Amino acid sequence: MNREVCRFAPTTSGPAHPGTLLAALLCWLDARSRGARLLLRLEDVDSTRCTPQSADDMRAALDWFGLDWDEVSLQSANRAAHEVALDRLAERGLLYPCACSRSEIKRSGERAADGGWRYSGSCRDRPLPQGGWRAVRETLRLRLVSERIEPEDEGGVDLAQDPAAEMGDPVLLGRSGSIAYHLAAVVDDGQRQVTRVVRGRDLAASTAIHVALQRLLGLSTPSYRHHFLLLEESGGKLAKLHGAVGWHELREHYAPEALCGLLAAAAGLIEAAAPIRPGELLAAFDWRRVRGEDLSMRWTGESLVHPA
Ligand code: GLU
Repeated sequence: MNREVCRFAPTTSGPAHPGTLLAALLCWLDARSRGARLLLRLEDVDSTRCTPQSADDMRAALDWFGLDWDEVSLQSANRAAHEVALDRLAERGLLYPCACSRSEIKRSGERAADGGWRYSGSCRDRPLPQGGWRAVRETLRLRLVSERIEPEDEGGVDLAQDPAAEMGDPVLLGRSGSIAYHLAAVVDDGQRQVTRVVRGRDLAASTAIHVALQRLLGLSTPSYRHHFLLLEESGGKLAKLHGAVGWHELREHYAPEALCGLLAAAAGLIEAAAPIRPGELLAAFDWRRVRGEDLSMRWTGESLVHPA
């Protein structure tokens, strides 16, 4: 029996955009071509950015695009397991409250490996209050030890990092009480026995933190593959945060097969953009055909084009 388990785990803070659909397609092709079990995990733990409607909307976008899943879950439903992980880390003395604001961290002026700001660790020696981590009304961080972590990427992306030095101690619980991405993703992958993580290269710099957390929580490390990204002409990622076109607007201009063909051609999976369904790409799917370099695309208001 094939025990491989893959997952697609979009954050549901806004409508799916072309980069979301490309990532979903590559993850789906990878899993289905290997006969692996494929989970859709709607990452909705950030209650300040995600609503039940936005999770439904993500699901609707992926259905419209023609992808199917063996299991669908809402990450927020797994809060109890996330809290158990916090209990375990607290028992080992690895959690501390942090009062530093985003602007204070930014003012320290050091860039992190993921392009954000590195946390300098100014609150690192603060103890948890009497009531433990549950009584913290500030941000909760993980006290990382400095060590070089060298996860392998199947596509050769360099994932090696000393996360303590290059990223700083990660937030595990936000000030609003939301479980943070790194913790939720690692706990959920571990619990569902995910063996393969296929995701965009923008998340490559998070991998060493994920491996550090897996080790602290006694979870096994899956294999990783980080694929190319669609970039806006400006060089920024075609991301929901950057105001790129969402699927509601795309749907007015493309049938799902037409968009699938366009993205498959952009990825290098077919010679030229022509309408095709995801399942029709399966027989010839091979990562060696998928482009390595990021790709710029532009939304004209009517179509997605390669900038001249
Ligand atoms: N939720 C993350 C995102 O949409 C991806 C999580 C992951 O694949 O680890 O960027």
